[in-house]
Amino acid sequence: MPAVLGFEGSANKIGVGVVRDGVVLANPRRTYVTPPGTGFLPGATARHHRAVILDLLQEALTEAGLTSKDIDCIAYTKGPGMGAPLVSVAVVARTMAQLWNKPLLGVNHCIAHIEMGRLITGATNPTVLYVSGGNTQVIAYSEHRYRIFGETIDIAVGNCLDRFARVLKISNDPSPGYNIEQMAKRGKKLVELPYTVKGMDVSFSGILSFIEDVTQRMLATGECTPEDLCFSLQETVFAMLVEITERAMAHCGSQEALIVGGVGCNMRLQEMMETMCQERGARLFATDERFCIDNGAMIAQAGWEMFRAGHRTPLSESGVTQRYRTDEVEVTWRD
Ligand code: MG
Repeated sequence: MPAVLGFEGSANKIGVGVVRDGVVLANPRRTYVTPPGTGFLPGATARHHRAVILDLLQEALTEAGLTSKDIDCIAYTKGPGMGAPLVSVAVVARTMAQLWNKPLLGVNHCIAHIEMGRLITGATNPTVLYVSGGNTQVIAYSEHRYRIFGETIDIAVGNCLDRFARVLKISNDPSPGYNIEQMAKRGKKLVELPYTVKGMDVSFSGILSFIEDVTQRMLATGECTPEDLCFSLQETVFAMLVEITERAMAHCGSQEALIVGGVGCNMRLQEMMETMCQERGARLFATDERFCIDNGAMIAQAGWEMFRAGHRTPLSESGVTQRYRTDEVEVTWRD
């Protein structure tokens, strides 16, 4: 019964999780929240993570009721993500592995989201929509790889939402996307925005530029409210995501869809995906904010699969990489 400790810190969340044989024993997390109108920069984010990571480690072990002796392997996020935060967290994982004499595992962050989604929902072979502040991909498993069927060709959907929140000076607490979602519920008017699906891929940078350009004028003239703009942006970008997910499901003959990543806890996105799935006779799987937003347990869970399949990361290869594509990893733990 291997118990795996997982460290995640590729963006503005820092998490330490413990997973033992499919059971999440602990999963504490902290978020670096910046003032309205601003984003998070790599250096400051890394300082935040360094300041809290050892407290989180202690918290995770206490909550799990385990000591270092009970841990069989230490997993950490190798990438993709922001350089400075990734490095800060990897240094701690590497140090603990040496102090405690445990094997190390460098984990692909995107694959960790998928494995966590599969664990929590019980979806066996889903078409995956992975949507967050840094990533937007439609993924399906085939022949020992998580293959990318479609993706953003510029910024991630979550980045588009986060940056629009800065235009409106919406609070980043608990997250800009959550606050946009609440405002969108009060939106009444659909403002037409560019709709940019290109084959299996999507693009969000033009939509962001467009809405950034028109916001001040439309609000000044009273043509629409900030709530209408939140509503319109969500409806447009989510429709694009549902479209490419449906096309991938049709191609794969898939009867399961799984949403992972921080944007995946948006209830309006889940509702639109549910409608699409019902029309196809398929099932939708999604998780709540504990598991779809970046967390340590997802790194522990992917690490657990890799550990059992015999993977180990030698110290000499225990670095990080800002670019690490989902389909680079050979998925030896699945048939
Ligand atoms: Mg993520």
